[in-house]
Amino acid sequence: MDSALSALIAELPDGTVVTDPDILGSYRQDRAADPDAGTPLAVVRPRRTEEVQTVMRWATAHHVPVVPRGAGTGLSGGATALDGGLVLSTELMRDIAIDPVTRTAVTQPGLFNAEVKKAVAEYGLWYPPDPSSYEICSIGGNIATNAGGLCCVKYGVTTDYVLGVQVVLADGTAVRLGGPRLKDVAGLSLVKLFVGSEGTLGIVTEATLKLLPAQHRGCTVVASFDSVAAAADAVVEITGRIRPSMLEFMDAVAINAVEDKLKMGLDRNAAAMMVAASDDRGPAGVEDTEYMASVFTEHGATEVFTTADPDEGEAFVAARRYAIPAVEAKGSLLLEDVGVPLPALAELVSGVEKLAEQHGLMISVIAHAGDGNTHPLVVFDPSDAAMTERAHTAFGEIMDLAVGLGGTITGEHGVGRLKRPWLAGYLGPEAMELNRRIKVALDPDDILNPGAGL
Ligand SMILES: Cc1cc2nc3c(=O)[nH]c(=O)nc-3n(C[C@H](O)[C@H](O)[C@H](O)COP(=O)(O)OP(=O)(O)OC[C@H]3O[C@@H](n4cnc5c(N)ncnc54)[C@H](O)[C@@H]3O)c2cc1C
Repeated sequence: MDSALSALIAELPDGTVVTDPDILGSYRQDRAADPDAGTPLAVVRPRRTEEVQTVMRWATAHHVPVVPRGAGTGLSGGATALDGGLVLSTELMRDIAIDPVTRTAVTQPGLFNAEVKKAVAEYGLWYPPDPSSYEICSIGGNIATNAGGLCCVKYGVTTDYVLGVQVVLADGTAVRLGGPRLKDVAGLSLVKLFVGSEGTLGIVTEATLKLLPAQHRGCTVVASFDSVAAAADAVVEITGRIRPSMLEFMDAVAINAVEDKLKMGLDRNAAAMMVAASDDRGPAGVEDTEYMASVFTEHGATEVFTTADPDEGEAFVAARRYAIPAVEAKGSLLLEDVGVPLPALAELVSGVEKLAEQHGLMISVIAHAGDGNTHPLVVFDPSDAAMTERAHTAFGEIMDLAVGLGGTITGEHGVGRLKRPWLAGYLGPEAMELNRRIKVALDPDDILNPGAGL
């Protein structure tokens, strides 16, 4: 393999292939921190589509698996390295071109989501998808996971903003799909097939993104509840009537974990906190904000606070975004991503509470509540074998609970390696077989991200 790798090194610009063991170590895991992560043969950091093609031709010729990697913030082990494989990192693919007339951006995958937002903001434009990790995750990773986020309750998820992609297939073929056209129904919806495919079908080397005019910074409503179910019921009522631009939920564990770190005066005694917003302009925004505040009050909120000051509102949004790192300070996390139809939200959250009690575990629930997408964070101590086993049992039971309520095993983080054992059960034999047939058609030798996703 050494001489084969030397051939790849020779074909690519100097420094593209990295074999220094100290550097390889930092590419073994993503944020799922899989303890069984392998050690790659090399990390490859191309700058151009043609270089990605070279890597894939080489990998196919030598039957070497390739794990695509953006910024490694994934929470499902989709970018976990494999022993003897390549990690193909897009971190140096950072070009972007913005066309304010068609309101599109053509970007390479390695830019962070926040960098894309910042670049397009200079033209008075906005790229909506906003995972909580937007400052540290790449746009390519967002496309590969079909990332969601906080404003998705009104604006949809990543796929709704991807008009076109260039992908490199396992055999090195580069294909352009879609482009800067708002409507295009020629052929199958292959752009949609690649969005969310978790690096298993092709490597996204360029994307054409749809942009919107800059978002209005509207009003924020923050409410505390002494009952989780009451907060969830308020969500159902609100979404039945209006379209808030944010409807986020934190439970008591998350509130306290965030307050421990940020000390911003959150109500430590609350069972739940909602952070909601409207970005409508003028009277419509004020009306929606007042409506949300009144629904929270009717559902027994112990405190309701409304602000039209964008910076004050942003402080609460930042608190919600900080929930995962804050709870992570309590121990290792198994991070769930289950989603249910909205009417089942209260039942899901109270079901998770029961599982936490039953297994003697701390499980904090945060949620993009308006989407019915929750993140139960199962906290455990990896040095305690019995607790680790209970945590893994609870992790599986939470997915069973969600599926039993008509929900999904993952709403936005993807299947990765962590949730793969549950995929076939969730999809059912026919849909699983169809997924596999598509994978085999595009990647017959299983070179691209084997063991992740489908
Ligand atoms: C604190 C925190 C908060 C988060 N909040 C959210 C949230 O609100 N919403 C949400 O959706 N996610 C969230 N995430 C999860 C994560 O940030 C997203 O899944 C993100 O989209 C991953 O991007 P990445 O660049 O880090 O990708 P990576 O972790 O590097 O990779 C993710 C997957 O994409 C594949 N991949 C990466 N780049 C490419 C490419 N160019 N072509 C093909 N495949 C590729 C990888 O193989 C892997 O399967 C959060 C994570 C953290 C740590």
